Amino acid sequence: MRSAFTGALLIAGCAVASCGGDGNRADVSGRVTVVYDSTIKPKDRPATAVIRKSRVLEQVAGWVNQSVALPHDLAVRVTDKVPPGVTDAVTQPDGRTIFVPPAFLTQIQGVLGTVVKTVERPALFPEASFNADDLTALSTQFIFGHEMGHALQRQLLLRNLGLEEDAADGFASFYTVNEVGPGPSLAAAILFDELAREEGKLTLEGLSSDHPVTQQRVFNFLCYLEGSAPKKFYGPLVGAGYLPKTRAPLCPQAWAMLDYGWWTQLKPYYSRAFKEQGDEAQENAHHQLIAEMKAFEKEIDKIRSGQ
Ligand SMILES: [Zn+2]
Repeated sequence: MRSAFTGALLIAGCAVASCGGDGNRADVSGRVTVVYDSTIKPKDRPATAVIRKSRVLEQVAGWVNQSVALPHDLAVRVTDKVPPGVTDAVTQPDGRTIFVPPAFLTQIQGVLGTVVKTVERPALFPEASFNADDLTALSTQFIFGHEMGHALQRQLLLRNLGLEEDAADGFASFYTVNEVGPGPSLAAAILFDELAREEGKLTLEGLSSDHPVTQQRVFNFLCYLEGSAPKKFYGPLVGAGYLPKTRAPLCPQAWAMLDYGWWTQLKPYYSRAFKEQGDEAQENAHHQLIAEMKAFEKEIDKIRSGQ
């Protein structure tokens, strides 16, 4: 009843006034397109084919196209023709182009090829997907989610209260946990864990990077996933020893903050088609955050005293 009345008011307002704002913006919104270059080097064709077939990039792009009214087009280019010095997935400063170099996909596939031969599969990760190709597709979806986080922040000039890299990782968790499931977070954790092993000892450059150190990102990915559904994930992630017990009590509230944070950040830019669904998601996330803060308050003395 209430929402119908609000809708009528909006339509009436539109008929007599200039009809600016959300309606027009949604009509002229930018589109995300994913383009695979036709001249990819033979050595990078297998990994590129895995990503292309999986359609993981198109899934992320599709969600943004459906949900957000971007001010500008966003071209996602899987190509060797990248700006100087680019060796991994990057977002241009204006947020209008994301480059995904095929050699970067080959590198991911190679690292994950080592993982499946040398690392014991976490029981939570499905056996049928524990192969280099599926892990490559799922972890690339998470990494692309990170780049999409940058693109959204830059195109929409979102307010950041911390480092942009943290917010980009946060968007990857927010999008994949809500829209895809646990696969991308788990695959990204598996990939980054191996990358951290290969990086070896922490360096001054690693510690001073605008990204958290690699191993820390693994625990952040797992923390958000666990916090999104502790009943489901506490056993396989914390009980099984992948996410330390010292971190786990913070994760439900951390996830609730992230989820509410991104819905709220995107709310002014929802597409017209998404507005009702997005408003509801933001409201639910608000209630969830309040509930998690109350639950956290009850446990804080125990948590601080180490249980
Ligand atoms: Zn980044």
